[in-house]
Amino acid sequence: MVAHSHDEENALGGHAGRVIVLGAGLAGLSAAYRLKHHHGHDEVIVIEKNSHVGGTASTVTVDGYSFDLTGHALHLGDSMVERFITEDLEMKDELVKVRRKAGILIEDRIVPYPFQYNLGHLTRGLRDKCVIDFLEATYSEGRRSRDSTEQCVSPSFLDYSYSAFGRSITEVFMRPYNRKLWCIDPDDLSTDWMDLVLPKPDLQEILRGAFTVKDHDDTGYNAEFYYPREGGIQHLSEGIGKKIKSLIRLGKEVTDIDMDRKLVKCRDEEYHYDYLVSTIPLKDFMRIARIPCKKGRLSNTITRGFIVVVPSSKAPKYSWIYIPDETKRLYRIGNFSMFSPNISKPGMDVLWLECAVLSDECEELPLFDDILEEMRDCAWLPIEHLKHLATIDIDPSYVVFDRMRNMTLEPVIEECRRKDVIPCGRYGLWSYMSMEQAIKSGFDAADYCMQQ
Ligand SMILES: Cc1cc2nc3c(=O)[nH]c(=O)nc-3n(C[C@H](O)[C@H](O)[C@H](O)COP(=O)(O)OP(=O)(O)OC[C@H]3O[C@@H](n4cnc5c(N)ncnc54)[C@H](O)[C@@H]3O)c2cc1C
Repeated sequence: MVAHSHDEENALGGHAGRVIVLGAGLAGLSAAYRLKHHHGHDEVIVIEKNSHVGGTASTVTVDGYSFDLTGHALHLGDSMVERFITEDLEMKDELVKVRRKAGILIEDRIVPYPFQYNLGHLTRGLRDKCVIDFLEATYSEGRRSRDSTEQCVSPSFLDYSYSAFGRSITEVFMRPYNRKLWCIDPDDLSTDWMDLVLPKPDLQEILRGAFTVKDHDDTGYNAEFYYPREGGIQHLSEGIGKKIKSLIRLGKEVTDIDMDRKLVKCRDEEYHYDYLVSTIPLKDFMRIARIPCKKGRLSNTITRGFIVVVPSSKAPKYSWIYIPDETKRLYRIGNFSMFSPNISKPGMDVLWLECAVLSDECEELPLFDDILEEMRDCAWLPIEHLKHLATIDIDPSYVVFDRMRNMTLEPVIEECRRKDVIPCGRYGLWSYMSMEQAIKSGFDAADYCMQQ
């Protein structure tokens, strides 16, 4: 066993002492970057089990086609993160702005996203039901349930959806789609994840969208997004990685953590720390650090993405299409070539076809042939032209926001902080985060270490 002590490797330690960062995804990389370049703190080591940086924000190349683990659209709503990427990383000219073109498959039509602002694309009967139910939820009986959910500490997503959108929008889109995405019934799902993603219903927009037929919709937080001109989303992760190259140790899986002795162990090495910033999944951290789960349980989904290539002339020209139909396993299909033409070969598009299960039901994940069979009658997806390139599992993918999560999380994070362990990032904090939020979370963890 090689022991890396305090005095070795670095002599420039600031008052945070030695900081070990677990994981070189966007949160871990950003934490280390901020410690080194903002705080001038050099006594930092990033330990990553993979042979590359990026974590969930990684890009894979197979047969000359590049693709992210799943579609990764970069939003820059936070000025600090925007400055970091465009100025500190000098990536301004390396990103392109992309206009989202998203749809929702309802029966055999593709309705532009967001659903509630494009009701005019539905059959007349369904549109009228959606509008009437929405108005009823807003102005009459439904108002009562909205008021009561506002008073609740944490209403379920289903309560929220009924009171905000009414019965029909909920039953046609919100409920089935979210049941497929989160793999639990929206009645058991809290609303704690929602701030960023769900546009608040706007009466005028709903009515306008019901009585005019827009081809394209620019509402919602992701109407426009950024994407690297070359190299997929990996380009962003590597952009941070190369500024802190000397701090990163790749191919080292942490297998044991002793929080009392402040020791992290990989297979044949151990590292002492003063502060430990952890971005590895909290569920794994608890196991490795032997933190018992006194109350509750942490649950997550696994997303399986089938990556396929298809002649560009046959490909659906959407950034992504949501599929709420519960007779189909796929919940979303996306086209990487709509993010950037530079990831594919001329004349071919790269798509991802996505489905999910709860992590303890992984044997139920479908195979590619199951999906082909299921999509056989789908007019806009030419299954006979799809060439299967890879199958990618993301585990964990979505952290399940059920009541168990809230019961488990707080005491564990408190115990960690008491022992100078700072969980951060999407999975470190067992939360719902975009890439931008993961970067910000890494910054916050770095600042925390320096402020103690
Ligand atoms: C299906 C899906 C779609 C998404 N789409 C978008 C999108 O369109 N736009 C957007 O902004 N965000 C999107 N995200 C979110 C985005 O991917 C994350 O917020 C971000 O990449 C999280 O970064 P992180 O560093 O917190 O976690 P991770 O990227 O998971 O990093 C954790 C790192 O820890 C490493 N690790 C784990 N265990 C160990 C161990 N024992 N020892 C050493 N290393 C270990 C892992 O290998 C990994 O590199 C999506 C996420 C998913 C799952």
